[in-house]
Amino acid sequence: MKKKKTLLIPLLLIPILLLTTLILLPEEPEPFTSPLYFTFVIHTEEDINKYGVEKENNMDYDGDEELLLHATMTMRELAEIAQNHGVKINFGTDWTFANGVELYDPTFFTDLESMGHEIDAHAHESHILYSEVREDIISAGGTPTQIASGLTEDEIYEKMEYFDTYYPDFTTLWGVSLAGHELGEVIAGNVWRPSREDWTQHDKNGDYIYIGHGEYANSINYIENAINNRKENQINTYAVFTNPRHFKASKASTIDDKWTAKESSYEYYETRLEWWDNFFTELDTYVESGKVEYVTLTEISEIFIEQENQLIFTDEEIPRSEEALTSLNEQEGYKL
Ligand SMILES: [Zn+2]
Repeated sequence: MKKKKTLLIPLLLIPILLLTTLILLPEEPEPFTSPLYFTFVIHTEEDINKYGVEKENNMDYDGDEELLLHATMTMRELAEIAQNHGVKINFGTDWTFANGVELYDPTFFTDLESMGHEIDAHAHESHILYSEVREDIISAGGTPTQIASGLTEDEIYEKMEYFDTYYPDFTTLWGVSLAGHELGEVIAGNVWRPSREDWTQHDKNGDYIYIGHGEYANSINYIENAINNRKENQINTYAVFTNPRHFKASKASTIDDKWTAKESSYEYYETRLEWWDNFFTELDTYVESGKVEYVTLTEISEIFIEQENQLIFTDEEIPRSEEALTSLNEQEGYKL
């Protein structure tokens, strides 16, 4: 009997030793290349600043019912076109659009959500803060995501501190940019946890996830580049971008002339909708071949968390644009 017991102890030690070696060995992640995770981002912007000064380029969503209904009509149609292709929209609403929805079109947010799209709070360069916009979305019937949409680079550290007080309402940051999308803007097409000392660097203990938007042009050429430049063991991302103000109503309507266009114009909403439909048709072939995957920003952050242990973060400098967003798009045939 005694002999048996002494044999059992060394036998038990073998699996324990094996397990410890496995845990202690530095883990080399298996190399893999993610598809290009593609999202369609839409932003609305407030038409008035904190001093009550009007911002000429933006629609009066919460003061002009006809205009709000034109905007939601075009955005519903765009959301349906996207849905038909499987494309997911992250609709970043500002406070004026959310208030307009609540006043004049209270099913807009839920309609988009039922198509598989997401509603994000968006408040860069605004005196109405992210948390208030989140509340406005809820009052207007929507369910806001945990995405903070459209931060600017000069406010990111301050905003991370601000989001700390509302944690976990905002866990993911999208589209850190320069005001006005000038050249020199960050165009990283990957995902990391921004360090509080240098947000461009990964901190494995960081509280927030940053999703880069990639080169950012509404262009198949640029998407193809992004596909070819995908990096191993990173979450590769790309977003295209639009705004309801780019979808003008007919001259025959009674809408404020500023927001109308001739039906022959590229700005006319039906022409724009057709452009997006054709664009997604071209893009669908890349989805079929597995190079592109249509996802929401929430899905990207879930994929990131799931694969975090397999990812490699370099301390390379982040890439920056050599063109402003508007001129880049124009060169690529998407006139604004
Ligand atoms: Zn914006």
